[in-house]
Amino acid sequence: MPEARGRSGETIAHASAPTKAFPAARAAAFPACLATPGLRALAACVQPLAFLGLALRALARGALALLAPNSCRQCGAPLERGGPLCDECAADVRWIGAACPRCATPRPAGEDERPGGGAPEACPECTGRPLPFRRAIAAGVYAGPLRRLVLAHKFEEDRAARRFLVAALRDACRRRGFHFSCLSGYSVLTSVPLHPLKRIWRGRDPAREIAEDLAHLLRRTYRPLLRKIRWTPAQAALSREQRRRNLRGAFRARRRSLPRRVVLVDDVLTTATTASECAAALRAAGVQEVIVLAVARS
Ligand SMILES: [Zn+2]
Ligand SMILES: [Zn+2]
Repeated sequence: MPEARGRSGETIAHASAPTKAFPAARAAAFPACLATPGLRALAACVQPLAFLGLALRALARGALALLAPNSCRQCGAPLERGGPLCDECAADVRWIGAACPRCATPRPAGEDERPGGGAPEACPECTGRPLPFRRAIAAGVYAGPLRRLVLAHKFEEDRAARRFLVAALRDACRRRGFHFSCLSGYSVLTSVPLHPLKRIWRGRDPAREIAEDLAHLLRRTYRPLLRKIRWTPAQAALSREQRRRNLRGAFRARRRSLPRRVVLVDDVLTTATTASECAAALRAAGVQEVIVLAVARS
């Protein structure tokens, strides 16, 4: 399978705050003007061109995979085997061990998830705060090599990074004792959706790709249960309250034959505002329980 190659030592900023080192074409912001109703038909017309662009990019990736040696996406060291990271960078990934069972915020190092063997305690941030999802699980801290791989998957369609992230989510579930074979009620995975125009603009939906691969790995079903019905500005520079206002009413669940329990997958959990809005939309449509899985917690 062809793999995209990472560039050595490349500094990449968060998707919504690109630095000069980030390729401008990949980080180009979706133009908000396209969200106006008058231009939606035009955007739909260019969708076939977007698919053609995807096919050409896949061909280019295949050619690069044949020509360029495989290298670590974080440090650029040559790799003899497949995989996105060298051993040193893989060891630098900060996996989340003990964490708040509700919002997945990591606990201080050395603190057990179940102090005294009792039930896990919520962190001060979400104690007493109602959340529309039952619990959240994040695989690692959004920093260093893991952050690099999230961005490589999101903006470079890096297949090896994608496989790494999916395996990280599966392992995080196992670390939490959240084994899917034991939870027959959670048979459906879904993902935080992009606005339809942004999906056309980008040509793909990275969070959905992760959720589909994870569903396949866990022998569960992926269903696109959510739609983003309103265009919203980027969240990165907003406070928790501003994010909440920004996303209020932006998601809606498809109401046909919804399951009772749903696993919601996203790439990065920051304030959990997006996950909360999506979970609330699912609950409003009749879903009884939602669990959030995120590759990384920032
Ligand atoms: Zn490395
Ligand atoms: Zn918490």
